[in-house]
Amino acid sequence: MKIICIGMNYPAHLAELNNPLPEEPVFFMKPETALIRAGLPFFVPDFSNEVHYEVELVLSISKLGKHIQERFAHTYYQEIGIGIDFTARDVQRMCREQGLPWEKAKAFDGSGPVSKFIPLTNLENPSDISFSLKKNGELVQQGRSSDMIFNFNQLISYVSKYATLKMGDMLFTGTPSGVGPVKPGDRLEAFLEDKKMLDIKVK
Ligand code: ZN
Repeated sequence: MKIICIGMNYPAHLAELNNPLPEEPVFFMKPETALIRAGLPFFVPDFSNEVHYEVELVLSISKLGKHIQERFAHTYYQEIGIGIDFTARDVQRMCREQGLPWEKAKAFDGSGPVSKFIPLTNLENPSDISFSLKKNGELVQQGRSSDMIFNFNQLISYVSKYATLKMGDMLFTGTPSGVGPVKPGDRLEAFLEDKKMLDIKVK
C-alpha cells in the first residue's frame, strides 16, 4: 500500500506559502508508517520546531490501474476520507532551498493520519465536498473540492502515468489555506461536510 500526496493544489494555500501556480500536479509519497492507528495521538517529532497541520480530502483507490484516462478515473475510487498531512515546515524549507527531496519533512512516523473511508454517495454534495479542521475548538482550515486546481480525476490520471495505482492506495489531494503550527497539548478535529472524522491529540 502506498500513500500518494498532492502538493500545491489550492490557490489560496499557494499564496500563503508564496508559491506560484503549478502547471502540472506535484506529488510525493508517504510510507505506511506515516499512518496513526485510530485513537492514538500524534507525537511532534523532535527534529522540527515548526510542524504544521494540513487537512486534506483523501481518496481510497479501489482497483488496479496504470495510464488511467481522465474520463475513466472516477471508476477508480468510490470512498473518501479525511487526513492530515503533517509537515515539518522548517525542514521542508531547508530541503527546498537545497533542492533536496521532501521526505524528511513529510514522510516521518505519524505524519499522515487518515480517517475511516465513507462512500462518496453518502455525502450531501459529492461534486463539491466541503471539509474543515478545528484546532482547540477553533476553525482554522476550510476547503471545498471545487477550489482544487487539479480535480480528483485529473490527479488520478496524472499520477497513474508514473506509478501504478493499486487497490488500497490512498491519495491525499492537497490542502486549502490556513495551515499552521501544532504543539503538544493541541487537539485537532477534522470534518467532512459536518461529520467529524478525525479527533487527534498532539503530544
Ligand atoms: Zn499537503
